[in-house]
Amino acid sequence: MNQKQIAVIGGGPAGLAAAELLSLSGHAVTVYDAMPTFARKFLLAGKSGLNITHSEDYARFARRFGTASARLRPALDAFTPDDIRDWAAGLGTETFVGSSGRVFPAVMKASPLLRAWLRQLENQGVALRTRHRWTGFADGGHVFETPEGRTIVHCDAALLALGGASWPRLGSDASWLPLLSERGVEVDAFRPANCGFVVGWCASFSERFAGEPVKSVTATSDAGTFPGEFVVTAGGIEGSLVYAHAAALRDRLQSHGRAVLTLDLAPGRPIERLARDLARQDAKSSFSNRLRKGAGLDGVKAALLRELVSEEERTDPERLAIRIKALPIPLLETRPIAEAISSAGGIRWSGIDDAYMLKALPGIFAAGEMLDWEAPTGGYLLTACLASGRAAARGIDDWLRR
Ligand SMILES: Cc1cc2nc3c(=O)[nH]c(=O)nc-3n(C[C@H](O)[C@H](O)[C@H](O)COP(=O)(O)OP(=O)(O)OC[C@H]3O[C@@H](n4cnc5c(N)ncnc54)[C@H](O)[C@@H]3O)c2cc1C
Repeated sequence: MNQKQIAVIGGGPAGLAAAELLSLSGHAVTVYDAMPTFARKFLLAGKSGLNITHSEDYARFARRFGTASARLRPALDAFTPDDIRDWAAGLGTETFVGSSGRVFPAVMKASPLLRAWLRQLENQGVALRTRHRWTGFADGGHVFETPEGRTIVHCDAALLALGGASWPRLGSDASWLPLLSERGVEVDAFRPANCGFVVGWCASFSERFAGEPVKSVTATSDAGTFPGEFVVTAGGIEGSLVYAHAAALRDRLQSHGRAVLTLDLAPGRPIERLARDLARQDAKSSFSNRLRKGAGLDGVKAALLRELVSEEERTDPERLAIRIKALPIPLLETRPIAEAISSAGGIRWSGIDDAYMLKALPGIFAAGEMLDWEAPTGGYLLTACLASGRAAARGIDDWLRR
């Protein structure tokens, strides 16, 4: 077979994973990215340790992608969490399993892995082009805006791996969405995933407690009940426990216009015992003292009760115990998508075939966060980006050989 020219457009984890496999298959691969450097979101993920995958039971792992799980499964089966750890080790980055089961590089950052990866790609003959912004199609090719002006690239096949819509200043700004939609590609508007929420805190609570972690609680929404922690922000809440509920809360806000996240501030303490211990407190002592001595709660947890529970409930031990075990935080809206960890929406699964080729644009494939799937934090996002990039690479290779 003559060497085929392949354009990989978007140099995040999905695009780079595809480029790696395509060049190993003998193709001439060029990776284009709009930014001055590659994989900026991957590097940012490294600032919080780079949770690259998860060690939980694989069958459970593979179900974390909601309605997209079935479509993603073949790609995940072909590049499992164990494969990711081997792949990273091959690039000189050993990984370890944290206490939560999440997998991190031993160095807790992304830059050594990315540097080794880019070096390996160059050694394999992959051409890396930064400052090339893809702006659509012309004359049967792909149009790029570059510092030297507009250029049109012709290739035998292309992979779009342009990312989702969160953190647009890192490069993935979803400006491709209308360009594909007008060519008949089925797309959905992007929505924030793994995002924070707006709560109408009063000014004094917000000033005093913004940035404060709320630890060892459980939270309940339509998604279920999970233990964990989150952070109070100036205008709301964010953090891992909130992200675990984010998709369900976002969808409820959209369908009902309102949503609540219900906290148990004292998991492990039965409600009857709380009511009894609170009833034993001197009714004349302050709310803080009654709460500290009767329920072991102080600081931000006590402040949340003061903020969200009525005066009558606070003075009635039984009603207060009920609120400690089920404190509803009313949510007004999601924080903007630009602040979210990831996004839902993008190219619908009905718009691509099983080989990740766009049905409306034969010869053009898509992978990574451009596609309509979402998953909680925990390493699932990067795993699916790497795995779908590799699956699309296999799709391109098969298509070119056919
Ligand atoms: C703060 C933060 C922390 C995170 N931490 C984790 C974590 O610990 N674990 C985890 O699994 N996931 C994490 N994620 C999510 C993960 O980083 C993303 O899901 C992943 O990077 C998406 O990969 P991608 O290749 O699909 O897209 P991206 O990484 O967004 O890459 C897309 C690339 O395409 C380029 N591009 C976009 N438009 C154009 C254009 N028109 N022309 C040319 N190039 C273009 C962009 O510059 C970018 O380089 C985190 C995300 C954030 C924001």
